[in-house]
Amino acid sequence: MSAQGTGIVIAIDGPSGSGKSSTAKGVAKARELRYLDTGAMYRALTWWMLHHGVDVGDPAAVAAQVERPVITMGTDPNAPTVEVDGRDVAADIRGKDVTTSVSAVSAVPEARELLVRTQREVIAAARAESAGIVVEGRDITTVVAPDAPVKLFITASAEARAQRRSKEVRTGDVAATQADLARRDKLDSSRVHSPLTRTEDATELDTTGLTLDEVVALVVKLADEVAAE
Ligand code: C5P
Repeated sequence: MSAQGTGIVIAIDGPSGSGKSSTAKGVAKARELRYLDTGAMYRALTWWMLHHGVDVGDPAAVAAQVERPVITMGTDPNAPTVEVDGRDVAADIRGKDVTTSVSAVSAVPEARELLVRTQREVIAAARAESAGIVVEGRDITTVVAPDAPVKLFITASAEARAQRRSKEVRTGDVAATQADLARRDKLDSSRVHSPLTRTEDATELDTTGLTLDEVVALVVKLADEVAAE
């Protein structure tokens, strides 16, 4: 990572529905930090592939196109944005088609290489221009920002995660949501390149019985302690 800038980096990994997005945003707002949702970047890339008729089941076909879309992330935690080639895709990337295909696209090494490079650029810019950044995803503590002073692995029970995700996407079918989360977890944790794993030095936080405010308060406390060192 770039040595420029002195802003703090808070790296958060965890499976879908663990509460990491809401936590990351809440912490960023509380401490006036930037916020980067790296999952949205993999979703944006997947959206572009589907929109252009690329066979997402064919890693070579995906690899051949990864340089084409221009993905731009807005890092204000109060109004984060995601654009592909200048088009606002914030709603489209949460659709079923993208959700079904994103794990296949994110397993392609060329896709990861490109997005990790962009993520490190966003982090370096935030460190130089602001108090720092909260970055969330699956490989932030392990690959994107392994030197981050605050590293967290956020989890929750499978039931709690499915309940939360169902509410987010407004479906009453919690069982189907739980099955989809389990499918994506399996793919994301078993892939060869940068699988979702917890490193020894990441603090594990189980959010199952906690409210969002409680989780945010815990992370803010941890970050304040590190900043004071
Ligand atoms: O966080 P979200 O569920 O939106 O992420 C969508 C997908 O993007 C994940 O299921 C995973 O396949 C991929 N992803 C990743 N690495 C990250 C963030 C997300 O592979 N750092």
